[in-house]
Amino acid sequence: MDSKKIPYVISGPCSAETESQVLETARGLSAIGVKLFRAGLWKPRTRPGNFEGVGECGLAWLQRVRDELGMRVCTEVASASHVEACLKAGLDMVWIGARTSTNPFLVQELADALSGTGVFVLVKNPINADMGLWIGAIERLQRRGLDDFGLIHRGFSSFESMRYRNSPQWQMAAEMRRLYPGVPFLCDPSHMGGSVEYIPELSQRALDLGLDGLMIESHCCPSCALSDAKQQVTPEELGRMLAQMCTRESSSTNPAFERAVAEQRARIDTIDENLVRLLASRMEVSREIGRLKKENNVAVLQLSRWDGVLDAAIREGQTLGMDPAFVRDVFNAIHAASIAEQNSILQNNDSKN
Ligand code: PEP
Ligand code: MN
Repeated sequence: MDSKKIPYVISGPCSAETESQVLETARGLSAIGVKLFRAGLWKPRTRPGNFEGVGECGLAWLQRVRDELGMRVCTEVASASHVEACLKAGLDMVWIGARTSTNPFLVQELADALSGTGVFVLVKNPINADMGLWIGAIERLQRRGLDDFGLIHRGFSSFESMRYRNSPQWQMAAEMRRLYPGVPFLCDPSHMGGSVEYIPELSQRALDLGLDGLMIESHCCPSCALSDAKQQVTPEELGRMLAQMCTRESSSTNPAFERAVAEQRARIDTIDENLVRLLASRMEVSREIGRLKKENNVAVLQLSRWDGVLDAAIREGQTLGMDPAFVRDVFNAIHAASIAEQNSILQNNDSKN
């Protein structure tokens, strides 16, 4: 791996399981140029009865990684007692997990415990897509004088069915980037995707969006892992994945231009995704209106209503510098599709009667 390519790569197992698993994984990572090692000691499992981590005893294994391989090591903390144990072991970097950043009481407890220690804190996004909670967690740290922090985007839980374990909601990452411009901002494609197969595409997307690095789970034997087995790669696989990833500077003779274009394209992709979602919810409302019209025996086409909608859209567009002809074309296409949908509701119902 060209370690200069991606500014921050944190890797290591979801959970520290044994001393030899930790050391073997760390050696493999060190060999491919990774300098930041992660391993969960206290595991916040969604359901009880699963492997809940080895706890404090794993700190000695992390110390060995640090001392023998010169890597910087970190683990997840969720309580003041975890922080205390990490400080005793001399760790200078920790992360706050998604289940914890969701809870202001716990974040406050951690902010109090970490205050004045000089420990670098990475804050994962909360489980649910609430910017306020994420920002609030950062503010709690800042109020305790903790300005040395980074962010990790690991996606948000969602009721919608999708291929990823957690919904990326890239617009949230873009907004956090805008709000915290100088702050190291990483993506965790392991927890976002939930499967090794999605790690490359999610990592690339994050880099294209201008994020500074990646936290990727790795294990010397992923299939034997006691937690998150599906989303961990071997150190060798990680090396190959990172080598494939394209950073903006490496892809152009004019890096500044390529960088600007890649960032804007990533924004466009996010906006387009939202546009499609908005169109789908508009269509759902339109279908509901179609059902109401049918029940009340009202005609599908209501020209005066449509004139009003179109005028309002054109006026709004003009205040935003949009060409009225373009707005008219777009809205006419939307309207045509809505009318077709409402007509088919009418006909389907008619044919059933
Ligand atoms: C982890 O990093 O192992 C972890 C539990 O992540 P998250 O808090 O993102 O679910
Ligand atoms: Mn994990």
